[in-house]
Amino acid sequence: MFIEPYHNQQQTGQRTGWIEVICGSMFSGKTEELIRRLNRARIAKQDVKIFKPAVDTRYHHEDIVSHNASSISSIPLKDPAEMLSLAGNCDVVGIDEAQFFQESVVEVANRLADAGKRVIVAGLDMDFQGKPFGPMPSLMSIAEYITKVHAVCVVCGDVANYSYRKIPAQNQVLLGETDSYEARCRKCFHT
Ligand SMILES: [Zn+2]
Repeated sequence: MFIEPYHNQQQTGQRTGWIEVICGSMFSGKTEELIRRLNRARIAKQDVKIFKPAVDTRYHHEDIVSHNASSISSIPLKDPAEMLSLAGNCDVVGIDEAQFFQESVVEVANRLADAGKRVIVAGLDMDFQGKPFGPMPSLMSIAEYITKVHAVCVVCGDVANYSYRKIPAQNQVLLGETDSYEARCRKCFHT
């Protein structure tokens, strides 16, 4: 389990920001882990803002909704640059489904962290072809902390890190169709 870094703002007078990335396949519990960290920040009376790409229209427009239905209110954005003004004076910025944002989300995450904010990013690290997904590789490179969470292979029960697409379609983004995917291990993904 990820242990939050100690946030020593009283002694230094100036907050230090940082970036955390939570990555993994579908059904790996990425969003649940993001919500867990954001809820802990709220209990610590920190001001939290949550963003997600407007392209992700599954379920409700205003909520991050994880598959186990624990949800948290979020702001859908077309352009990651909007985070810079919308984040305001908040302490913690959560970004869900980050793989769907443009590459500019990398620079935005850096600027938010440089401004003293804790930035927690969740996203798919690989697409259905097993290729690195959108800005996720760059976000993992600039992050101070990375957590890779795993699903369970539905074929053999091993640890799964691939999102296997069960229906034929070539576009990288296939939304609202969790039924079309299953988690698979390396061996079962390639067979
Ligand atoms: Zn397997």
